[in-house]
Amino acid sequence: MPLNKTLGNGVDIPNDDDYDDTPYFDYHHLKAIENHDSKYLCQSLSVSPGASHLTEEHIASTLSNIPEIPTASVPHAADPKVKFEAKDNAITTELRELYGALQKCLDLREKYIMLSGQRLMDDPRNSDDWEIYPAAPPKSWPLPPPEELERRKAKEKAREADPVAAVGSDFDFSQCKIPGAHVYQFGLGPEGHYQVYKNELDQTAGQPIHEFPTPREFYDDMDYILSVISDGPAKSFAFRRLRYLDSKWQMYILLNEFQELADSKRTPHRDFYNVRKVDTHVHHSSCMNQKHLLRFIKSKMKRSQDDVVIYRDGHELTLKGVFESLNLTAYDLSIDTLDMHAHKDSFHRFDKFNLKYNPIGESRLREIFMKTDNFIQGRYLAEITKEVVSDLESSKYQQVEYRVSIYGRSIDEWDKLAKWVVNNKLFSPNLRWLIQIPRLYNIYKASKNVDNFQDIITNVFQPLFEVTKDPSSHPELHVFLQRVIGFDTVDDESKPEKPIFKDFPLPKDWDSSNNPPYSYYLYYMYANTAALNKWRQLRGFNTLVLRPHCGEAGDTDHLTAAFLTSYGISHGILLRKVPALQYLYYLAQIGIAMSPLSNNALFLTYERNPLPQFFQRGLNISLSTDDPLQFHFTKEPLIEEYSVAAQIWKLSSTDMCELARNSVIQSGWEDQVKSHWIGKDWYKPGVEGNDMQKTNVPNIRVGFRHETLKEELDALRRYAPRKDASVNHEPMSKHDFVGVAGLAESSSIQQHLMAHKEDDWVENEMSSFPGVSMVAERAKLRTNH
Ligand SMILES: [Zn+2]
Repeated sequence: MPLNKTLGNGVDIPNDDDYDDTPYFDYHHLKAIENHDSKYLCQSLSVSPGASHLTEEHIASTLSNIPEIPTASVPHAADPKVKFEAKDNAITTELRELYGALQKCLDLREKYIMLSGQRLMDDPRNSDDWEIYPAAPPKSWPLPPPEELERRKAKEKAREADPVAAVGSDFDFSQCKIPGAHVYQFGLGPEGHYQVYKNELDQTAGQPIHEFPTPREFYDDMDYILSVISDGPAKSFAFRRLRYLDSKWQMYILLNEFQELADSKRTPHRDFYNVRKVDTHVHHSSCMNQKHLLRFIKSKMKRSQDDVVIYRDGHELTLKGVFESLNLTAYDLSIDTLDMHAHKDSFHRFDKFNLKYNPIGESRLREIFMKTDNFIQGRYLAEITKEVVSDLESSKYQQVEYRVSIYGRSIDEWDKLAKWVVNNKLFSPNLRWLIQIPRLYNIYKASKNVDNFQDIITNVFQPLFEVTKDPSSHPELHVFLQRVIGFDTVDDESKPEKPIFKDFPLPKDWDSSNNPPYSYYLYYMYANTAALNKWRQLRGFNTLVLRPHCGEAGDTDHLTAAFLTSYGISHGILLRKVPALQYLYYLAQIGIAMSPLSNNALFLTYERNPLPQFFQRGLNISLSTDDPLQFHFTKEPLIEEYSVAAQIWKLSSTDMCELARNSVIQSGWEDQVKSHWIGKDWYKPGVEGNDMQKTNVPNIRVGFRHETLKEELDALRRYAPRKDASVNHEPMSKHDFVGVAGLAESSSIQQHLMAHKEDDWVENEMSSFPGVSMVAERAKLRTNH
């Protein structure tokens, strides 16, 4: 790791300025751990570190070789074995506490995810009989009969001739099935989020079909996790475990690099270019690159200058009129005058970055070219979107999850957006949507669009409940929602916010001019989505997940709130400052869509980006572009992102294929599609779930990742076996193994323990556990006092 430097004592520590401005982990803290360790290691515990599969005999022989420990506080000082065990009990108690706390955090997350129906198995779109309309393109191998081949070739030709017309040409709204109304009712519950009721009787009695955590419960749970991850021993311990994972990775690469290369060579046909990769985080309004946008604007100025495009100050203006008022001709326009690239001037200036969305700094042009809801009903944006999507379709292996905004200013936003998508036939096998909700309550409040926070909740969620109750009330929205994966929330995270921990104002009482904090937004998105999902699941409609922007800047609260409530996150670069939370994200294998080029322009320079470290530790990360319009130069921004990462961090082709595979797993495509892309058993853990013929990731790599994770989880289970958690554990289904619960396959160890009651050997084995010496030191201090 280029980020590391070596201290005099030969201990690698990360660049200390990574830790200098965090309350969670500082340099002195790091030194303290090292001192503890060395002190303790001098005196005792000479068991070899790193051995993870010790046998009982090995333990026995290790125990008999323990040197004499000169302490009087330990009873039975004559027998070295007894001494060790006595000490070990103290260590064990400490470890139990630590692991118990970590396990509780994971249990909490599981509870929230389960209650909100965000697991893969909860989403009807992942069932085998889910119908995708228009259907995904057929497999190209083995070759179809000649007449079919002819037909496909003709289709490809037609696309080249007219890309805009080709996209979505197989979609016909009249062919879509629109189901009828459902008997259940919905309404606002006492906590200010929507609830679903069986009938009116239940509604008046306040008995919804499902109960969800209240805001108070949510803030208590968040508090608990915050206390765990800021606890000294826990963060030291997690930091040790993460460093252990680093070392383990380095060892693995040293030993297996060439084997991986050989394995990849042996796979016919597949290479980095033809594995599927999903751009897991990209904003629709900046999905095209600058050159593309420029070309588009110029062509519109030449060919359609008489289009009436905007209504300003009581006048309808044509495109020609707009450019005349700006004193510009097509000839004047260049990338430089467009000025939409964010490089030097936007670092740590999110305000400036937002202005970059205006072509030539003119909000009028943004309004005309980059909005779905404008005087021309978003026709231009739809056309340019189709051009971009057509490029994706012809490159075949790149997919996008576009984020489009629902602001919550008025209740008809959903219908307008859905009509825009449906009427313009923006349907493609390479395209799915996420809804981003900007956290702009304070602005709408100031401009008197809303009275209180409740208005935003109503505007965002009421149409979704209406369409779930009766799809025929908003038919376009029903069809559009089938292609929507979930919700995101966006804005500048570095804005200061007032935390609320004592009083929990209801949304209807939140009428001050202040913006609610991140966690408050996320809680209400969570609660509403949860209620909605339960109903949609019941009706056989696809459910929605939360995948917010999180941990790009700002407080640790954000990452904690998302840990509880969200299926995955975007950015997450601040996890580098919170070791215990990073370790939890690792254990839960929460998907993180990282965008180092975007971070480089806004918050964190490229060389300090934690992506390579997260990757080697085995966090579930993928690469994404964020804003191609602002950050990228080519027409394949996703490849550009991979390319820069590969060059700077020396990623091997196996690394890139692994990132690509992660991106498919994190994405929201239907199970059938994922099976086609990365293998029919993709949801299974470890090597079983890898189809090298499709992913080009060697089994040896997938096996290593899985074994490593399993060992960490096994350790967790030895020390913190789950008794009966507060959540109802349904029998695990196949889909539990991915994402939310990499936690599922631990039962064998637990059963072993319960059957044999042989706690001791397992715990002795743990003496060889990195991080344990620090725990031991603390235990010793405690017994001495
Ligand atoms: Zn973004």
